[in-house]
Amino acid sequence: MKLHEYQSKLIFARHGIPIPKGKIAASASEARDIATELGGRVVVKSQVLVGGRGKAGGIKVAKTAGEAEDLAAKILAMTIKGLPVRKVLVDEAADIKKEIYFGLTNDRASRRPVMIASAAGGVEIEEVARTDPDKIIREYVDPMLGLRDYQIRNIALSIELPREHWRAFEQIAQGLYQVYKNTDATLAEINPLVILGDNRLLALDGKIVLDDNALYRHPDLAEMRDLDEETSQETEARKYGLSYVKLDGEIGCMVNGAGLAMGTMDIVQLFGGSPANFLDIGGGAQADKVAAALRIILSDRKVKTVLINIFGGITRCDEVAHGIIAALETQHRRVPFVVRLVGTNEAEGRRILADAQMLTATSLADAAQKAVAAARTV
Ligand code: GDP
Ligand code: MN
Repeated sequence: MKLHEYQSKLIFARHGIPIPKGKIAASASEARDIATELGGRVVVKSQVLVGGRGKAGGIKVAKTAGEAEDLAAKILAMTIKGLPVRKVLVDEAADIKKEIYFGLTNDRASRRPVMIASAAGGVEIEEVARTDPDKIIREYVDPMLGLRDYQIRNIALSIELPREHWRAFEQIAQGLYQVYKNTDATLAEINPLVILGDNRLLALDGKIVLDDNALYRHPDLAEMRDLDEETSQETEARKYGLSYVKLDGEIGCMVNGAGLAMGTMDIVQLFGGSPANFLDIGGGAQADKVAAALRIILSDRKVKTVLINIFGGITRCDEVAHGIIAALETQHRRVPFVVRLVGTNEAEGRRILADAQMLTATSLADAAQKAVAAARTV
């Protein structure tokens, strides 16, 4: 789960990381009032859960409260990378001398957090990785020892941070590590961390991505979820406990088990098709969950065939079949269905689906080939 910039920065502030003064606004007049309070010179920042808002025109500096109002009206009418802007953050404007990238994420290969910094701040780190990989500095943190001071000094040295800023930088680094640890984040990022004209350090932008699997430990953070930023499919999937990732292809896949789901997607591609989604209904899914999964798949207008691949273990094939029938009672079936049901209660499952006019398959290869062929006829 991604947090907005304003939410991330509030968490930063609670961990001793300096942030600009500012407030969130949902209308242009509110933005004006905040700007007046802050003395006029402000930056108006769109709050959408994507990067590169600056480049997209979603971040503008205003010299007066009146200008802030005009800019807020324009930004609130924008759609950035498909997401409508519903809120703007109005922050006191910063006099920027230097922009630094500073972040922490999980490094799966070394199985520990990695602190990443770059003197080339302000731009997305993926961009720096492509164009200037040598400018990226990494320090791997032993979770048993925590972030050590010498590691912070290594980073400071490597990004050529002037000595006068080291003390402030150490505090920010430890703060960021605590944020990362305390929120069970998979990413905590300050980009840019700036040196101001008056020589203070300030976190100008913030981004936190939380580990969904740890959210149960953080009801206060879970509450920060912005439903406006989710597609209705994502909301529905979460409600039913389905793992769903939308993709761009045309074969909708409904599978039980993440590994089998990935295997199914691979085989679909092997036979020349492209999966419309990853969808894992999980183990032991009941009919209502199966029906929800199908509704989600069918609501994607790009889907030309539905491929159902169930390996019945604790998941019962008859229960899945009931779910399919239930979904089709309320949902028009506009595309062919290819069904592979094997394992627990497979005979019963097939009997339930016998009159439903679906293509059946026994092997996964057969199922994938039939699905790819069916998608070509639609
Ligand atoms: P992002 O584009 O979504 O990453 O949004 P950021 O918050 O990082 O802002 C992008 C860029 O806008 C920053 O790197 C700065 O160069 C600039 N910017 C943001 N806030 C201010 C500000 O208060 N004053 C000035 N002059 N520039 C700012
Ligand atoms: Mn940024």
